[in-house]
Amino acid sequence: MRTDVLLIGGGVAGASAAAELRAQGFAGSVTLVTRELDAPYHRPPVTKALLTGSCSREDLLVRPEGWWEEHGIDLRTRTSVTAIDTDARTAVLATKDQIEFDHALVATGAMVRRLSVDGAHLEGLHYLRAPGNAEALRREVETAERVVIVGGSFIATEVAASLATLGKRCTIIMQEELPLERAFGRLAGAFVEGLFTAHDVEILRDEDVLAFEGDERVVAVRTASGGRLEADVVVIGAGAVPDVMLARRSGLALGDTGGIRCDVRLLTSAERIYAAGDACEYESVVHRRRVRIEHEDHAIAQGVTAARNILGADAAHDVVPYFWSDLADWTRLECVGAATTWDEEVASGDTAGGAFTVWYVADGRVVGALTVGRPEDLATARTLIAEQASAKRLSEVGVETTAARAARS
Ligand SMILES: Cc1cc2nc3c(=O)[nH]c(=O)nc-3n(C[C@H](O)[C@H](O)[C@H](O)COP(=O)(O)OP(=O)(O)OC[C@H]3O[C@@H](n4cnc5c(N)ncnc54)[C@H](O)[C@@H]3O)c2cc1C
Repeated sequence: MRTDVLLIGGGVAGASAAAELRAQGFAGSVTLVTRELDAPYHRPPVTKALLTGSCSREDLLVRPEGWWEEHGIDLRTRTSVTAIDTDARTAVLATKDQIEFDHALVATGAMVRRLSVDGAHLEGLHYLRAPGNAEALRREVETAERVVIVGGSFIATEVAASLATLGKRCTIIMQEELPLERAFGRLAGAFVEGLFTAHDVEILRDEDVLAFEGDERVVAVRTASGGRLEADVVVIGAGAVPDVMLARRSGLALGDTGGIRCDVRLLTSAERIYAAGDACEYESVVHRRRVRIEHEDHAIAQGVTAARNILGADAAHDVVPYFWSDLADWTRLECVGAATTWDEEVASGDTAGGAFTVWYVADGRVVGALTVGRPEDLATARTLIAEQASAKRLSEVGVETTAARAARS
């Protein structure tokens, strides 16, 4: 079999590339191969609306049933690509069928990072990535009283908020001092901690899991500092690792973050083969270094760039990343820039009142912004980050950095 464009991976990156090819008027053949049971779907509701039961699996679909056929896209679910011959430009499927292609996109996403401690095999431990994981967790928590959630980042905090709204007694065990501190810093972390306290979610900070106890099913979590917490159900949100099994096997170069190494155009080390989404490490013109980002809007935007480059645009991916995290109906955190390091955090607005923006400054430049309740700041932040603006420009939006304040006084 032969196809003009082969898209590998049916997440939002692969799906958005398919849609963009058609939106650009591409009339050639497009094949999307994914090992998922379902057509492309959104993952964010897995820790939120799907977990609390306020949406169904069908609501998660990226495109309505029938869309793929209507747009002439050969969608093959439950199918894995096992190898790519990058010189011959052929892909081998698990069925042993071979597909020849002109261009390909590797959008194989990420997998959960599993904990390897004693008792990690016990029943009652949950990791969340696919809709089935949320449905299984929801079924189990129906009869559970005490839920222990391991992790202090997005998955763990979102699950804790969702389960707390279902009336469950939740305890978070995290290595961080403040929830979401690694992603958003201390100012936002303190705000999120306040939300959990207000909703009776207990937090064990600076802590690690030593082991899970139980015969067949988990009954308790033992912590590194010697504590023991009884648990009916445990949810683990210990991060994700890029799924580069296919890329590695096919000889594509990998980068320092473990993702598929791409240039500014999202082109991999092989001619006419691109990567996008969670699996893609690219040379970012926005960040001025190599980054790999695990957020939905970013994966969608990269799918669009890859599709345009497949059609010959030859353009750098220069979209300033945007993402959000919802903690039940308590709050929405929105972020642009996806900065991972900074040397100064400055806030504008009312941090205590829950309507504020944190601006992240590195080497005197604005590299990111997080907002709660001030979405109007996002556009300003996007512009400042794209222009790699000096932190001095923050005063134009009414923000004074600590350094500027010190210089004034
Ligand atoms: C529970 C959860 C909640 C989230 N919430 C948010 C949120 O609130 N906000 C936000 O911005 N982001 C959120 N994210 C992150 C966001 O969902 C991801 O960044 C996004 O799904 C990445 O899309 P992707 O297409 O790169 O990868 P994926 O969605 O992982 O899709 C990759 C696909 O490739 C398939 N695949 C892999 N290897 C092969 C192969 N060899 N052959 C065939 N198919 C293959 C996989 O089965 C998978 O279907 C969340 C993620 C999770 C897991």
